[in-house]
Amino acid sequence: VEFVLSEDGSGKGAALITAVIDKYLYAMRLSDETLMDIMKRFRRELGNGLCSDTNPTATVKMLPTFVRSIPDGSEKGDFIALDLGGSAFRILRVKVSHEKKQTVQMESQIYDTPEDIIHGSGTRLFDHVAECLGDFMEKQNIKDKKLSVGFTFSFPCAQTKLNESYLLTWTKRFKASGVEGMDIVTLLNKAIKKRGVDIMAVVNDTVGTMMTCGFDDQRCEVGIIIGTGTNACYMEELRHIDLVEGDEGRMCINTEWGAFGDDGMLEDIRTEFDREIDRGSLNPGKQLFEKMVSGMYIGELVRLILVKMAKEGFLFEGRITPELLTKGKFETKHVSSIEKSKEGLTKAKDILGRLGMEPSADDCIAVQHICTIVSHRSANLIAATLGGILSRLKDNKGNPRLRTTVGIDGSLYKMHPQYARRLHKTVRRLVPESDVRFLLSESGSSKGAAMVTAVAYRLADHTPT
Ligand code: BGC
Ligand code: MG
Repeated sequence: VEFVLSEDGSGKGAALITAVIDKYLYAMRLSDETLMDIMKRFRRELGNGLCSDTNPTATVKMLPTFVRSIPDGSEKGDFIALDLGGSAFRILRVKVSHEKKQTVQMESQIYDTPEDIIHGSGTRLFDHVAECLGDFMEKQNIKDKKLSVGFTFSFPCAQTKLNESYLLTWTKRFKASGVEGMDIVTLLNKAIKKRGVDIMAVVNDTVGTMMTCGFDDQRCEVGIIIGTGTNACYMEELRHIDLVEGDEGRMCINTEWGAFGDDGMLEDIRTEFDREIDRGSLNPGKQLFEKMVSGMYIGELVRLILVKMAKEGFLFEGRITPELLTKGKFETKHVSSIEKSKEGLTKAKDILGRLGMEPSADDCIAVQHICTIVSHRSANLIAATLGGILSRLKDNKGNPRLRTTVGIDGSLYKMHPQYARRLHKTVRRLVPESDVRFLLSESGSSKGAAMVTAVAYRLADHTPT
C-alpha cells in the first residue's frame, strides 16, 4: 500500500487521517462474510474437541468440567472462594443463605501476586496462595472453622472430577515451574497443610461466571470471559461428549477458545502485528486467538501500530519517544479511555503526553481511530466464536430459534465504553435466529467457585450449619 502525504504534512484533516488508517489497517477490519466464515471454522473446532478420534489433536480442547447443573436455588452454606489467574488474585467469603429467597453475601480481599512469584517455582506460588488464605481466615475470624473452598483457577485444566484438575499449560502472565501436568488440588493441599479447609471444587473462571449468572437466570448456559485472557464454556449434551461416560443430561464444557488458531486456522486473518505480539510473548505459538482479542494484548497491539506508523511518518511527524518504544507502556485501559465518546480525544492527548509525546489534534484523532479498529476487531472475533457456540446450542435443542442467556465477566468487556454494545450487535447479525440475553456478572468468576462448591456440598448431602 502506498500513501501520499500532503506537501507540508499539515491540513490533512480528520477524514483523510481516518481514511489513511482504514487502508493501513485494512486486514483488521473484518467483513461479516469473513466473520461468518470464522464462525463456521470455530464450529468445526467444537466438534473436533468433543469427538474422541479428533480430540487428541484438537486445538480447541473442549474440556469436561464435571459441572452438570446450574444452582437450583436450594443451596446454602458458608464458603471460601479463591480466584487466581485473572487480573487480580482474590479471596472471598461467600455466604449463601435461604430465608424467603436465596441470597448471597460476599466479602473479598485482593492480594498481590508479584511477578517473581508467578514466574518462580510452583511450590512458592502455592505457598503464597496458602499464606494469603491464612491471612484472610484470620481477618475473617474463621481460623478454626472447617470451611469448604472453591477454587477458580483460570487456566486450561484436564479434570477427572470436580476436585482433581491437572494444569495443561500456563497462559497469560503465568509461568511458574513444576505445575504443568500436576493436579493443582494436590499442590494446594500440600501448601495449606493443617488449615483444616477442604477443597471441594476447581472451576475455570468461565464456569464460575456461568454459574453465577445461572443463579439469577435459569436460562444461562454460556459463560464468557473477556479480560486479561479470553475463554468460554457452555452446557453440552452428554451424549456428544465422548470423553465422559453417559448419555443423559448435560455437562459444562470449558472450550478454551483462546487456543483457536494454534494449528494455523487463523493465518489468513492474522496480521504482522499479531505475529509480533506472539513472538514477544511468554508462550509463542500458543493462544493465538486470545492474543488477537484479549485485554493483555489489545493495548500492546495498538502500541505496535503506533510505532510502525510513526516510523513511516504517518503519525507524530515521525517522532517516537523511548517510552512509546517500551513494551507494555500502552495499556488496554488506555484504549478504553481513548474510546470514550466525550473525553476520548483529551484522554489521548494526556496518555500520549505521559509517554513523552506531543501529539497534534490530528494525531489524537488518528490514535483514537486505531484504538477503535483494534478493539472492534476483538469484539467482532468474539462475536464469531460465540456465534459458533450459539448455533451449536440451537442445533442441540433442535429449535428453529434459540432463546438463551450468556453470562459475561472480564475487565475488557466491563471497562471498555463501546465493547459490549458492539459485541451484542455483531452476535445478533451473525446468529439472527437467536434471542440472546447478555448478563454481566460482576465478580461472577470468583463467586461462581463458591456456587459450584455450594452445589457440590448440597449434592454430597451435607447438612449445612
Ligand atoms: C485461559 C482460560 C481462561 C481465560 C480467561 C485463558 O488464558 O486459558 O482458562 O478462562 O484465559 O481468564
Ligand atoms: Mg458421552
